[in-house]
This record gives sequence, structure tokens and C-alpha cells, in this order.
Amino acid sequence: MAETVSRRAYGKINLGLDVLRRRPDGYHEVKMIMQMVDIFDELTMIEEEENAIHITTDHAELPNDEHNLIYKAIIKYRERTGDTKGVCVSLRKNIPIAAGMAGGSTDAAAALILYNTLCGEKLTQKELCGVGVKVGADVPYCILGGTMLSEGIGEILTPLPAPPEAYLVIAKPEISVSTKYVYEHLDLAALPGHPDIDGMRKALEEKDLGGICERMENVLESVTVEKYPVIAKIKQLLLESGAENALMSGSGPTVFGIFTSREKAEAAGEKLEQEKLCKQLFVTTFLR
Ligand code: ATP
Repeated sequence: MAETVSRRAYGKINLGLDVLRRRPDGYHEVKMIMQMVDIFDELTMIEEEENAIHITTDHAELPNDEHNLIYKAIIKYRERTGDTKGVCVSLRKNIPIAAGMAGGSTDAAAALILYNTLCGEKLTQKELCGVGVKVGADVPYCILGGTMLSEGIGEILTPLPAPPEAYLVIAKPEISVSTKYVYEHLDLAALPGHPDIDGMRKALEEKDLGGICERMENVLESVTVEKYPVIAKIKQLLLESGAENALMSGSGPTVFGIFTSREKAEAAGEKLEQEKLCKQLFVTTFLR
């Protein structure tokens, strides 16, 4: 019988995001604190006839051909190992798309892990990360998960302690934002300052939620907040509803707020829905 494997693929937020410089090859050098959250897609992979890659999804906007990052991940794995095992992958999408939550990267990471299982664990986790970075800069992080300092183009990863327990409101407004657009329009010379990522790292080590929240900063907001005022509106509503702090994740437009009480987080979520400020809304926690 055909072997079947499945796995959850979790989304992330950035507690802090700095861009240090633009490299001559066009990539950006970053310094970010990545944090997985309890919002996930579900992937199931079933063995198929040799060479096949079939993808089915429950989301009409997503490609199910070679443009899906799951497809690219399997191709890169095959190029690395010479495997030709055919698979059918079904994806249940839950993470907002083009939202700054690494939805595509985490699906690619899960696909690599599942395909590696079906191929008899040929690659170590480190080798899988080497394949993953060829699919996308955030894929190695998604393979490892948890709380990480991410440097280089995203491939230099240092594990950090998880933040203390808290409640998160994660809101994705109606708009979609292309990561490429945001990085292309980022004016590094015009930034008034840079986030205190080293200080946040220390606050994580000291389990100091207040210290983490007061250092939440994302330089990419300089591009998106001006263009999409809804981002600032969501942040403001979250703060007025008692969030310790609120920030855009990645290249946006998703915004998250951190709360110390579930009741307050739920009330803030209800308010966002009443005001029709978001298309997708989650009240959740850090994945620790
Ligand atoms: P990041 O936080 O890494 O910048 P993102 O959340 O901004 O990612 P994604 O959701 O990963 O963006 O999707 C960006 C684009 O990738 C979309 O236009 C989408 O069509 C395409 N894509 C390809 N495969 C997938 C996938 N499995 N899941 C989501 N998007 C995918």
C-alpha cells in the first residue's frame, strides 16, 4: 500500500525585524527575531507513480503547479539526492497568504521534511536546511521552528528561549502586500534608527515580557504604514484595547498584538471585526 505521511506547518511572526544592508546581489542582510505561532497549515503526502508531483489545495488563490513552493521544494530535494519518488500532496491552508507569516515557506519546509521521510531520511536536518534556502530565505527557519535569531539573508539561525506565555491577536487586513515591493521601496538611509534586536535577545533570555514588548520594531513598517493606513489603524485599536504592544509581521500586512489576558485579547479581536478592519483574525499563543 502507498505510504502516507502528514504534518502541520506553522506560521511565524517577527518580534523584531531589522534590515542591515542591501547586498550587491540584491539580497538584503537582515537581523530578525522569528517566533512560531499556533496557526498552521496541514500537509498530507502520499506515494504516487515515479516522478509525479500532484498538489491539491483547498484554497482557490493558490497555484497547484510548479509555482507552489511545495513543488519547488520537492524539485530541489530531488536535485540534491537524485530521488525520483512520485508524490501527491494535499494542502489545507489556514495561514493567511502574502501576509508576512511565511505561509509559503513553512509549507515548503514541511514538504521537505515529509519527502525526506518517504525517501528514508537520506538528509540530516542541517542538509535539509541547505536544500530549503534554495527555495526561500525563511525555509531553514521554518524547518527548525521555535524562537530564533535570524541573520545573513535568513539562513544564519541561533536558537533563543521562547518568550513568556502571552495571548496574541493576529489580524490580516483585506489587502495583500508583495514582499518584493516592500524590500524594493525600503530606504535604508532614511530610517530614523534601528530596532534593539540585541536588547530583545537579552529580554528573551531574562524571560522579561515587558522588555520584549518595549523593543518590538519592524523597519519594513516605514514602507507599508504610509501606503496602507489600515495597518496603523489596527495597531492603534490593539493598543487602545490593552495590548502590551502591536507590530506588523514581516513585510506585512498582518499585524499582531501581545496581551497578558485572554479576555482582553478576545475583546480586541471582536472590536477589530466590528470595525471591519481585517479579513482574517486569530486569537492564539506563541508556539513554545
Ligand atoms: P513571507 O512572510 O515569507 O514574506 P508571505 O506570508 O508574505 O511570506 P506567502 O504566503 O508565503 O507570503 O505567499 C507569497 C506568494 O507565494 C503568494 O503569491 C502565493 O501565491 C505564492 N505561494 C506559492 N506556494 C504557496 C504556498 N504553499 N502557500 C502560500 N503561498 C504560496
